[in-house]
Amino acid sequence: QRQGRVVVVTGANRGIGYELVRQFAANGDHAVLGSRDPDKGREAARRLGRLPGTVLAERLDVTDPASLAGLADRLRERYGRVDAVVNNAAIHYDTWQNAADADLGVVREALETNLFGAWQVVQALLPLVRESEHGRIVNVSSGAATLQGMSGGIPAYKVSKTAMSALTRMLAAELRHDGILVNAVCPGWVATDMGGPGGRPVAEGARSVRWAVDLPDSGPTGGFFRDGRPVPW
Ligand code: NDP
Repeated sequence: QRQGRVVVVTGANRGIGYELVRQFAANGDHAVLGSRDPDKGREAARRLGRLPGTVLAERLDVTDPASLAGLADRLRERYGRVDAVVNNAAIHYDTWQNAADADLGVVREALETNLFGAWQVVQALLPLVRESEHGRIVNVSSGAATLQGMSGGIPAYKVSKTAMSALTRMLAAELRHDGILVNAVCPGWVATDMGGPGGRPVAEGARSVRWAVDLPDSGPTGGFFRDGRPVPW
């Protein structure tokens, strides 16, 4: 597995994103710890302590284009490239309602962060990913987002994540010829603030995501995977 990669993780001040940054930096990579609240980001980076690679806390609100443009400028200056983008930030997993009478304000918020947020992160960082010899884009999705699983409960989250799988497939087709692999991954049920107690350890969830960053150039693109195995959606 290559080392010294520049890997940007959104929503990395806690949960699976935080653990991803820890694993990448432990591997000797340059992990960019994206956090919408810069204080929380700096505090998270401080908690990680010294690791073989580097941890760079950066303000990154996926819903704020100005924050993304600023980040792209700083990363261009510092590294000149981005090897992998992990779209991990998400909201509204726990907002229970029925599609028939859902509060569409909630649905819009979910789409704004989980879908458009990830989408504009890709758009902002793609020029830098094109500078990488082994570009990877990883969209963290959910096993809840399969067409077979489209019964009520959390429609905002499910619609946003299913749309993300569609976006993943389109981006993969468009970027295949540039050697950039784009995949969606499910971390499994993970014990974080979002997942609540009882899920599997965060290190295992992060490993399921990391698999798609670590893919060889001959690896798959446009798919949806959990623990390295395809998820039918
Ligand atoms: P958490 O709720 O623990 O963490 C979510 C992170 O996203 C936080 O850092 C949060 O920041 C950040 N975030 C929210 N909105 C924004 C924004 N606008 N810009 C930047 N960051 C933002 O979630 P998990 O770690 O559990 O989940 C990570 C990913 O895994 C998500 O995509 C989730 O859907 C997916 N997933 C999780 C499962 C689980 O069981 N945990 C199961 C299946 C999928 P802040 O601290 O400021 O709120």
